[in-house]
Amino acid sequence: MIVSLLVSLLCVVAVALAGGRLSPNGENHATPGPRANLTAAVVEPLPASVSGAVNTTINDGSALAQAARENAVRQNDLAWTFGKKEQRGWYLYVPLISRLIETEADINSVEFATALARWQRTNGLAPSGILNGDTLYRMMETWQARRLKDRTPARPDQLVTVPTSEFYDSSRPDNLRQIERATYAAYKRMLAAAAADRVIEGHHLKIISAHRSREYQDNLRRKEPQAGSAGLAINSPHFTGRAIDLYVGGEPVETKDANRALQIRTRAYRWLVRHAERFGFRPYPYEPWHWEYVG
Ligand SMILES: [Zn+2]
Repeated sequence: MIVSLLVSLLCVVAVALAGGRLSPNGENHATPGPRANLTAAVVEPLPASVSGAVNTTINDGSALAQAARENAVRQNDLAWTFGKKEQRGWYLYVPLISRLIETEADINSVEFATALARWQRTNGLAPSGILNGDTLYRMMETWQARRLKDRTPARPDQLVTVPTSEFYDSSRPDNLRQIERATYAAYKRMLAAAAADRVIEGHHLKIISAHRSREYQDNLRRKEPQAGSAGLAINSPHFTGRAIDLYVGGEPVETKDANRALQIRTRAYRWLVRHAERFGFRPYPYEPWHWEYVG
């Protein structure tokens, strides 16, 4: 039940985006940001920006070319906070960002800067084409606003029990394999589409955790008092039965940057970013495995 415990500890709900903002030092271009461990077995080809290659389209003198060079640096170096946690760079959000600004271009390209400038203009930001702190916070707000709003806990009659074969941990007991009925139907449709697109390998897209009762969460909190309110969600979307944690590679629910860097490169995760919304699921940007059914 280590997985269950970790899931409960990590699915943080209360994300205070308003607090903190950029660190007092701003962005430090002199110090390289953390490089992710990119040795996943089942991955898609890296965008040039992540692999370190330099896109040849940025070698002119225009403002957007300069923006492209800035983005190549800031993807690793931008200092910002999520909740109260210090973060560095936005490379972990590249799939979501690309989807949001509607481009497949490498993030150090003029094409990416152009698409970003267009999104910035649409969202009332200065259209610099540079993915700076203001832009990243606006993106986070956008994703967070699209998540499940109704956090009413599920009634027992709204829940169904999922077969063990569909769970990442097949030894998980019946009472920990429950999910809200419509969410399950949508998940099954999504899974069939992912299988048809041949993006599922191994345990990918199996369910790690879905419904969790308040009592279960309270028990975990008593066992792990050091987790505090920051680590253990007080009002988890998992209470609704409409939040699901899906296996997308690596350690199932580990938020360390290196693990998330691996997860965001799997075909399963990339597919979810492109297609899950079509089935009614929305991402929680900080946890690549956590998706919420909004219908
Ligand atoms: Zn979750």
